[in-house]
Amino acid sequence: MGKENEEIYAFACRAMAALSNDELSAEANIALVLETGKFGVSVMALLDEANTTAFGNPELTKVNLGVRKNPGILISGHDLKDMDELLKQTEGTGVDVYTHSEMLPAHYYPAFKKYSHLAGNYGGAWWQQKEDFETFNGPVLFTTNCIVPPSSKATYADRIFTTGVAGFPGFKHIENAKEGEAKDFSSIIALAKTSKSPTEIETGEIVGGFAHAQVFALADKVVAAVKSGAIKKFFVMAGCDGRMKDRNYYTEFAEQLPKDTIILTAGCAKYRYNKLPLGDIGGIPRVLDAGQCNDSYSLAVIALKLKEIFELNDINDLPIAYNIAWYEQKAVIVLLALLSLGVKNIHLGPSLPAFLSPNVAKVLIDTFGIAGIGSVDEDMKLFLN
Ligand code: SF4
Repeated sequence: MGKENEEIYAFACRAMAALSNDELSAEANIALVLETGKFGVSVMALLDEANTTAFGNPELTKVNLGVRKNPGILISGHDLKDMDELLKQTEGTGVDVYTHSEMLPAHYYPAFKKYSHLAGNYGGAWWQQKEDFETFNGPVLFTTNCIVPPSSKATYADRIFTTGVAGFPGFKHIENAKEGEAKDFSSIIALAKTSKSPTEIETGEIVGGFAHAQVFALADKVVAAVKSGAIKKFFVMAGCDGRMKDRNYYTEFAEQLPKDTIILTAGCAKYRYNKLPLGDIGGIPRVLDAGQCNDSYSLAVIALKLKEIFELNDINDLPIAYNIAWYEQKAVIVLLALLSLGVKNIHLGPSLPAFLSPNVAKVLIDTFGIAGIGSVDEDMKLFLN
């Protein structure tokens, strides 16, 4: 066990022991929550290091939304090692690979961009699986979470494969490889070869790849734009997406933001506005996508770098507002990570986490200034005053 792992394990034991202590004061509880966030930052940093060491630093990339004539495999989830192996095994087979939902940011990595058969991103966020999988026509590989159970009318259920931690009754599962061997994707490739090519549901492209290294490469441009007033404010709009209608708030909010603002995003929340024509500020796209939900780490690194460049003592003095799309427990570690870095006045919507008791909600509001959201018009005034 490495040093970091030992520290994380020791903390997890201490935190679990504290859970059974009814006498723990509110202050001690808050300290534990912040410590959890601190470890969240460490773990996301480790994952970032693992991904960038293996596959390079994400870079500015245009991702195709249309389709080609070849049959394809659609890969979803977060596991970049599975992505790597699937691309290797499909090379030269006449089968293209498309990303879905959480896997979109794979396109930003140099190690994957080099494959000409990595054809594009197909469809939208995880909750649009039922529609997207019907029209994709070929096999789908789930590498991690967020599986929507297919309805009894679905025609795609026998085209779904899971692997790693993902699994669902009735779906074929591709087993982990033995030590020193590669995972075997031959069954999914064989099925793809007999499938129709994907039906085109949209055209155009998404621009992304703004994890910390790419943003640092643009730092001079970004800082000059802030100093000249061309960029007035950044909005961190990371988080999750879901099917509820009230999440249209985030599309409308992005549309109504003034043209001198930049959206920093990561996670599935981006699907609410990453296909909108929001333009750029002096060549800097107005939506900067850092990647998957765990790449929210990049957004924290970017904020800390800006704090250093502008020689500020408090991260909250930066022209950054936080309007995060919440989905129950899913990205809770991202929230705790931001709190541990001292970020205050984070807005969460469309509703506050249901697991918060009134007492805990009061502590969060009093200590960290956490708030919900209102109407788009109200919040525009609130955030831009
Ligand atoms: S952003 Fe949220 S919904 Fe999307 S993969 Fe991460 S946890 Fe799941």
